[in-house]
Amino acid sequence: MVLGYSTKFSQAELISYTCCEMSNDLSPSAKKHLAARVSYYREMGIYDFYRRPSDESIQIPLAAAIEPTQEVTDASPLPVTQDKPSALKAIREDIGDCTRCRLHKGRKNIVFGVGNMNADLMFVGEGPGADEDEQGEPFVGRAGQLLNNMISAMGLKREDVYIANVVKCRPPGNRTPEKDECDTCSPFLLRQIDTIQPKVIVALGAVAAKNLLAMNDSMANLRGRWYDFKGSKLAVTYHPAYLLRDPRQKKEAWKDLQMVMKYLGLKPAAKNPEE
Ligand code: SF4
Repeated sequence: MVLGYSTKFSQAELISYTCCEMSNDLSPSAKKHLAARVSYYREMGIYDFYRRPSDESIQIPLAAAIEPTQEVTDASPLPVTQDKPSALKAIREDIGDCTRCRLHKGRKNIVFGVGNMNADLMFVGEGPGADEDEQGEPFVGRAGQLLNNMISAMGLKREDVYIANVVKCRPPGNRTPEKDECDTCSPFLLRQIDTIQPKVIVALGAVAAKNLLAMNDSMANLRGRWYDFKGSKLAVTYHPAYLLRDPRQKKEAWKDLQMVMKYLGLKPAAKNPEE
């Protein structure tokens, strides 16, 4: 996002600048736009901001922010009047050919999300792997096959749920996405959640759980309970990739899914994924 202002701010710097100083350099309209963005981040549970080196900064078009027709895309509040297809399309368009974090450097495809936009159940993973990067769709590799099996065991089809990740570009070597990468990308996920409005969100793995809940705790403590999250219920279970590495934990994951099924009134399929 480039708005043609002579000073470079990272997004985080801008927020800090806006919150703490509200310089008189800014017009009232620009202040209003920026305060709205800070408010949006806070509504999402993001309170801590950090400063990035200037070479990773985003040029923020402060001057243009005063233009009501200017597209202020990333993390703008979701217009409540939009229908779901339009809202999701708008989020995807806002992501664009994103270079907001370093993960853009190695990706082939942005992996936005897939599934039923009216789903009661949404799964959130941490980020795309090689297969997902290749195909531009989340959970299509071996872990995706296991997730499909988990969904089937719940008496649902993949097409019944919505699936997305915290970061939309593949971290190099399938490493864990770093905090600043998650912080930069997660506003898009949160807008997807706002749009889908699922009854239940299942966070797959510690990265998704910790980012959504802003809690730094062990999986043992995060699992097995409900969280209230933006009007939805949120449960935590193991990431399918972890279950492939340690199949003994499938039994525990199945307990988590049974908790979700009970809440949603779902009947299990004949065969469950621990078998
Ligand atoms: Fe943009 Fe998200 Fe990809 Fe980073 S991971 S480049 S924020 S789409």
